[in-house]
Amino acid sequence: MVRKKIIAGNWKMNKTQQQAKQLIEEICIAVKGSTSDIVICTPFTNLGLAVQLTKNTNISVGAQNMHFEDSGAFTGEVSAEMLTEIGAEYVIIGHSERRQYFGETDETVNKKVITALSKGLIPIVCCGESLEQRENGITNEVVRTQIKIAFNSINVDLAKKVIIAYEPIWAIGTGKTATCEQANEVCSAIRSVIHELYDNDTATACRIQYGGSMNAGNAAQLLSMSDIDGGLIGGASLKAADFAVITNYKP
Ligand code: PEP
Repeated sequence: MVRKKIIAGNWKMNKTQQQAKQLIEEICIAVKGSTSDIVICTPFTNLGLAVQLTKNTNISVGAQNMHFEDSGAFTGEVSAEMLTEIGAEYVIIGHSERRQYFGETDETVNKKVITALSKGLIPIVCCGESLEQRENGITNEVVRTQIKIAFNSINVDLAKKVIIAYEPIWAIGTGKTATCEQANEVCSAIRSVIHELYDNDTATACRIQYGGSMNAGNAAQLLSMSDIDGGLIGGASLKAADFAVITNYKP
C-alpha cells in the first residue's frame, strides 16, 4: 500500500502576525506542486490568518496544543471547538516540549486525542525517547507504552484518522538527526503496536511521521524509508524554501 506523505510544520512560539503573513504567502507559492498532504501548525494567534491565507490552496492548518475539556475554568487554555470554529483541521498532541515544560503525560495525551477526534480534529500524536532511554536500550518499550496509552479507548474507525509523529527527543532542535535506519526501525515498531491494538488494515494505513532536525538536506533519505510517511518539521518549517524542498519530495 502506498501511503500519501504528510508534512507538517511546527512553528512553535515563532512569528508575529506580520511575520506569519509573509511566511505563509511564500509557502503557498513554494509548495504548489507538492503531492504530499501539507499542514502548517502556527501559534494560536496566527491560526485565523493562516486559515484565511491558505484558502483554496493545498495547505491545511493545525494548532500545536488544545485542552481536553470542552470549556470551563482553565485559564490560558484553548478548546477543540475553538480550533475547529476558526478552521483548524489538525492539532499536535503531546509534543515533547509540552511534556517537558508543561506537565503533559501519556494520560493527558490520551484525553486530548479522544476529545480532538470527537470534535473532528485530526491529532498528530507525538512520541519519542530521551537520549538516556535510547542509551539504555529501551527506546521501543518507551514508544510502545506512549502509543498504547495514547490510543486507549479509541475505536478502530477513529484510530485510522490519527497521525503519529515519532520524534526522538535528543534530535529535536539539536541538529542531530536519527539515522534513516534508526528512525525507520522505531516507526516500524510503532506500526506493529497499531497492528497489535487494531488490525493489519489499520496498521498498514496508519501514517507515521519522523521528526527531529529533518531539513532540506536530509529529508529525501528519511522520507524514502519504508515506514516513514512524512515529517514533523520544526526549524526548517520557518523557511519557505527549505520547507518546500521537504514537501516537494517525490519518491
Ligand atoms: C519539532 O518541533 O517537532 C521538531 C522536530 O523540531 P526540529 O525540526 O527543529 O528538530
